[in-house]
Amino acid sequence: MEAQLHDSLVTLFESKLSTQMLLNLETCSRCGICTPACHAYASMPLAKYAPAYRAEVVRRIYKRYFTKQGRFMPVLGEAKDITDAALVELKEAAYSCTGCRRCMVYCPFGIDTQQIMSIAKLLLIGAQAEPETLSMLADMSVSKGENIDALKEGFLSGIKRLEDQVVEKWRSQGEHPIPTDVVGADVLYVALAGAHSIIPAAAVFNAAGEKWSLSFFEAVNFGAFVGDPTKTRLILDRIVNEAKRLKVKEVCICECGTAVRVAKQLKDAPFAVVGLTEMHARYLRQGRIKLRKLPGSYTYHDPCQIARNGGVYDEPRYILRHLVEDFREMSPDPKYNWCCGGGGGLVAMGEETLEFRMQSAKVKAEQMRGSKAEVVVTACENCHTQLSDLNRHYALGQRVVFLSSLVADALIP
Ligand code: SF4
Ligand code: SF4
Repeated sequence: MEAQLHDSLVTLFESKLSTQMLLNLETCSRCGICTPACHAYASMPLAKYAPAYRAEVVRRIYKRYFTKQGRFMPVLGEAKDITDAALVELKEAAYSCTGCRRCMVYCPFGIDTQQIMSIAKLLLIGAQAEPETLSMLADMSVSKGENIDALKEGFLSGIKRLEDQVVEKWRSQGEHPIPTDVVGADVLYVALAGAHSIIPAAAVFNAAGEKWSLSFFEAVNFGAFVGDPTKTRLILDRIVNEAKRLKVKEVCICECGTAVRVAKQLKDAPFAVVGLTEMHARYLRQGRIKLRKLPGSYTYHDPCQIARNGGVYDEPRYILRHLVEDFREMSPDPKYNWCCGGGGGLVAMGEETLEFRMQSAKVKAEQMRGSKAEVVVTACENCHTQLSDLNRHYALGQRVVFLSSLVADALIP
């Protein structure tokens, strides 16, 4: 590795050393309690998938450059230089971690391995060694923000084609079943690219009599998946600027766990941020929508970014109690729910990661099967894709559905 690159990576590492990060890096007692908590290790018991092992790959570099012993006697302090070989290890550690933080719930010190992995990702980006697919997707999102006027026409004609399907679910009272660019709307809804993310949400907004507007941008934040703070912010800013321009009171993010989490971290925004599930629970509580009960047995998979990392546990269960005749929890309970195994950009990398995703989430497939439910409900695009892949791979014979689409199908006047 060239000296200039090496030095710039050391500087990048230093930029991540907040008080919280120092605690994460200096506190681990190597007790190993977190080891079986990681779905990857629990499914494939190899040392490299143990959370503390992953963290150690970063910690050794920390010791080398930021502790006295590492600087002066690296051989004694288990310290490691930043080299090309170290980058390979960092990549394996960081992009096989989904950032689910299940290990953190078990760790007696609350060590956040996901945060430690953010250092690994930053170094890889600095060395241009991050997964190309994720970087490319992030760049495309950023450039969409810069060229929105050129893309508007195509977007609007695509939306027009979906309107009949919205009306089929809920006859619309207004002129536009999918309103866009509404200055003074109460809610800006940020969907994903795809009818499944727009039609059910639109039907429910209309049924609730909401004054809403559909965003020109999709919610997914590939910058967050790849771990690039600059691109994460640029992708988020597209939504922030649109919300400010339309003067909305609230931004509602679709069923995308990472997008919800990233948007909720906004500080000092002149609008509130809410996830679609929370919005639907609110409409139900306020009597703005009514639902018929659906037959069959249902369980719910908590997306890590919405539940464990975002604290939203009650709302989906409140909806499901009103929505289905037979709701059953998975075991272990929601706080300890197994990650689907598709987060951290793994699903976005598609076929590239399919085999690893299937092998590393065997425990999740067993948890789904153990519920004996006919339908597995979730509220995150990544989770939905991954759970559907698991359903096929392990021949579970279940149906995987989005919570929002059940709500839209069960609407009654
Ligand atoms: S955050 Fe999740 S995937 Fe990453 S090490 Fe911890 S348990 Fe494993
Ligand atoms: S549980 Fe916490 S202290 Fe123990 S090995 Fe894991 S990260 Fe380190």
